[in-house]
Amino acid sequence: MLSPQVVIIGAGAAGLMCAMTAAARGRRVLLLDHANKAGKKILMSGGGRCNFTNMYCEPGNFLSHNPHFCKSALARFTQWDFIALVAKHGVPYHEKKLGQLFCDNKSSDILGMLLDECQQAGVDLRLDTSVSAIERAGSGYRLTTSLGAIACESLVIATGGLSIPTLGASGFGYQVARQFGHELLPTRAGLVPFTLTDPQLKTLCTELSGTSVEDCRVSCNGQSFLENILFTHRGLSGPAILQISSYWQPGDTVSIDLLPHVDLPEWLLEQQRERPNSELKTLMGEIFTKKMAGLLAEHWFASKPMKQYTPAELKAIAERLSDWQLVPAGTEGYRTAEVTLGGVDTREVSSKTMESLKSPGLYFVGEVLDVTGHLGGFNFQWAWASGYAAAQYV
Ligand code: FAD
Repeated sequence: MLSPQVVIIGAGAAGLMCAMTAAARGRRVLLLDHANKAGKKILMSGGGRCNFTNMYCEPGNFLSHNPHFCKSALARFTQWDFIALVAKHGVPYHEKKLGQLFCDNKSSDILGMLLDECQQAGVDLRLDTSVSAIERAGSGYRLTTSLGAIACESLVIATGGLSIPTLGASGFGYQVARQFGHELLPTRAGLVPFTLTDPQLKTLCTELSGTSVEDCRVSCNGQSFLENILFTHRGLSGPAILQISSYWQPGDTVSIDLLPHVDLPEWLLEQQRERPNSELKTLMGEIFTKKMAGLLAEHWFASKPMKQYTPAELKAIAERLSDWQLVPAGTEGYRTAEVTLGGVDTREVSSKTMESLKSPGLYFVGEVLDVTGHLGGFNFQWAWASGYAAAQYV
């Protein structure tokens, strides 16, 4: 029977960080994954270039029912610690925007770095391994796995959330949490595109599919993000939409200011004064693409020469462009979501050690916990920080 001191289930971002750090402390670590490859999400991330952290990472970038929980781990393994690791391995990277750090080359640079560290520290990594049962045995745990029975002192659950099942996601971590008496907070897809069913809206989005609009302000439930939006065949996507999706609940209205940097009432009056014979859609074509201006004119307001609009009509146009209100039919769900909101209730986990307050020796790290970052490298920073925190105590 294998008898490591520490078993980590899930060789994703958090599991790899936890394994390499615990093994570097001298712990005998077995890292298991049911997939045929470690870190599949790392490989897919950031469009293949892994947005591995964010220079401006702070607790305010995370959603959780317990917003204080993430603070301690984030402070003990910061974005600068991860950047130092990346630099030590000579992985070239750059800031894309808003503090988001991406690999110059490929995400496999980050995965390779983590696997290298695991190997150097002596982590025993076993892929294609399933775990069918876990039970308490003395002060530790006994696992029934496809490798046979395994006993350990500390068991770390690093199995992530539910997003993208084809990349190995499973609800396993939630089952284990429930088995050992933990409360689960309802899970839902986050950082995910919206779908629309309203026929008029859907037609507009389909016709504009592939068009993006820069720097829109998208707001919902008191939160707002200033970023690009993207029209898709099914609805709306793009960074600002993905960000707000984490704050959206079914039935909520989302407001989009398509031109937050323009004083629209003033701009429309100015155009009316200075270009009275120009059609509205021609003028809007100077701001948006011609196609978008034409479609907005078709769907939202009859286009005519500027001099023909009444002040009330101009006011309504300004309002429509700066406060486009829509109620998404839903989201694309876990199939395309980058993250899972909710999960293991952090009120029953130590924020210092990530250890269960219900079952000693059991730890939860990464996305399986009810901690979800904004888009921009924050989710990986949580995986690194929580994995590192647990590794000090396993
Ligand atoms: P994961 O990385 O999901 O790892 C969980 C591991 O557990 C997997 O290897 C899985 O195979 C394994 N596992 C699951 N169930 C079992 C089981 N029953 N038995 C054994 N093993 C199991 N975040 C960023 O910060 N920057 C980005 O650029 C970014 N891009 C993303 C792009 C995509 C397409 C997606 C889906 C997500 C992206 N994210 C990004 C989010 C980020 O990938 C996750 O938040 C992060 O990987 C979570 O780390 P984790 O270790 O908790 O879980």
